[in-house]
Amino acid sequence: MNCLFALPGAFLALLFLSLPGFSTPRDSDLKRDLKRAKAVVAGEVTLLHSYYAPDGEIYSDITLRVSGVLKESEATPGLLTFTTPGGIVGEEGVAFSNAPWFEVNEPVLLLLEEWAPGTLSPAAKYDLDGRDIPEVGLKGRALLETVRSILTEQGNAVLDSEWQRTLEFEKTSRKAGADPTTQVENPLTACYVLTGPRWRTTSVQFRLDNALPPDMSTAALAAVKTINDLNLSVRFQSSAFSSNLISRGGITTGNPSTLAVARYRFIPSTQTMVDYTITLNNLYTWASTGAPGVFDTEGVLLHELGHIAGLNHPSPSICNQHTMWFSVAAGDTSRRTLEIGDTTGLQTIYGTVAPPPPPPPSAPPSAPPPAANPGSTPPVPTLTGITVSGNLVTNSTIRMSASGTNFAEFLQFVVRGQGCPSTGCILAGAAVQNITATSASTSFVPRGAGTYRVNVRNTALGAQSAAQASFMVFIR
Ligand SMILES: [Zn+2]
Repeated sequence: MNCLFALPGAFLALLFLSLPGFSTPRDSDLKRDLKRAKAVVAGEVTLLHSYYAPDGEIYSDITLRVSGVLKESEATPGLLTFTTPGGIVGEEGVAFSNAPWFEVNEPVLLLLEEWAPGTLSPAAKYDLDGRDIPEVGLKGRALLETVRSILTEQGNAVLDSEWQRTLEFEKTSRKAGADPTTQVENPLTACYVLTGPRWRTTSVQFRLDNALPPDMSTAALAAVKTINDLNLSVRFQSSAFSSNLISRGGITTGNPSTLAVARYRFIPSTQTMVDYTITLNNLYTWASTGAPGVFDTEGVLLHELGHIAGLNHPSPSICNQHTMWFSVAAGDTSRRTLEIGDTTGLQTIYGTVAPPPPPPPSAPPSAPPPAANPGSTPPVPTLTGITVSGNLVTNSTIRMSASGTNFAEFLQFVVRGQGCPSTGCILAGAAVQNITATSASTSFVPRGAGTYRVNVRNTALGAQSAAQASFMVFIR
C-alpha cells in the first residue's frame, strides 16, 4: 500500500525528454529512488508488532532478517528493525497509502531512507516471492539484476559476496512454480489491484477542509463526481459533519515526499472500511489548470479516492496511464479520467446500480460544505450513560444506547471486557445507528461473563470520551 509519488524525477522527465537515450519514466523512478536510498537490502520479515503510540496512531515495529545488502554505508546488519505507520491492533486496522504494508515471513527488497537522523525507514518495498509484479515492471531475479546494474552505474557496486547471498535468497524464497519473468498484458484484468478493505454502506461521506482554496475544492468535487458517475453501489457524499476530511497539509507519517496520502481505518475481521482522510502534500505546487510544472489536484485526488474505495496500485507497465498508477508527472491532467483497469476494479468491488434520479429543477446545485464549520478537528465526544437492553447473558445480542455530547458521524463504541482484545471490541461504521448529537446505539454480543466498560470516540481523533459507562453480563 504505497502511495502516489511525485517527485523531482517527474520534473526531470519534462526537462530531459528530448535527450537521446533518456530512459522510460518508470526506470527513472527506480534510478531516482535507488540514488536517494540510504540502504537497499533483501530479506525476510521475521517479527511484526503493531501498537497504539501516544499520538493515538497505530504503528508497526518490523524486524527484517537481512539476506543480502545491495547498498549500504555502514557495517552489514544481520537484523534490521524499523518502524512504519499503520498496522492492525485487535479489531482496528490503519493503512497509509505512502507507507508499505508488511506481513510476517514476507521476502522483500527494501529501499530505506533516513527521513529522521539515524533512523532508517522503508521508502519502497518490492515483493520477492513472485506474488506481484512490482511497480517497475520487473520482479524476482530480473528486478535484482536491474537494481544491481543501476547501483553500479551510480558508483555503488554490489559486493560479490552480498550479490551471491541475495541471489540465493531470491531463489529459495520464490514460491514453487512462480515465473519471475511473466508479464500480464491484458489491461482489463492486469490493471487493477484490490487492497482488501471496502465499504459496506451505500454512502461514504467526505468533508472538504475550509482552508482549501476554491479551485482545489472544485477539483475535489469533480474527482468525486467521476467516481459517482460510475453508479457503483456506493456513492461519495458531501457532509458538513464528516470526519472524512480532504485537506492540504504536511505529510508527517510515512514517506514525506509523496504527493498525497490516503489514510484509512478498517475492521480487519470483516475487511470493512470505517473512515479516512486524504491529505495533499503542501510541499508541492497544485493547480487545476493543467499548467506545466505543477501537479493536477483533480487527478491526484481521484487517485487517492481510488485508494479509499479499495484500489491499490497496478504493476504492469501497460497500466502506466491508469489513474491508480503509482506516479504522475507534473502538468499531467490525464489522471482525471479513469482507465479500463481503474473502472473494472471499482465495478468488481461494488458492482453497478441504476443511476439516481435527476434532482428536481428547483433543487439547488450540490455545493461544498458550508464555511460555518471552522477547523478540521471534530470535538471529542463525552459519554454520560449507557442504556442496555436485551438479555445480559453471554452470547446473547444486547442493545446499547449511549447518551452524551458531541456525537457525530462515525462515532465508535469501544467495549472492554471478557472476550475483547486489550484495545477493546470496536463497534464502528454500519454497526453504529441512530446517531444524533447526543445519542447513538449499537448491538453487541458479549463472549464472557463479567463487567464490561464502554467508551465512545470520534474516529477522526482516535481520542475517546474520558467517562466510561459499565454493565454486567452473566453466564446463561
Ligand atoms: Zn497511490
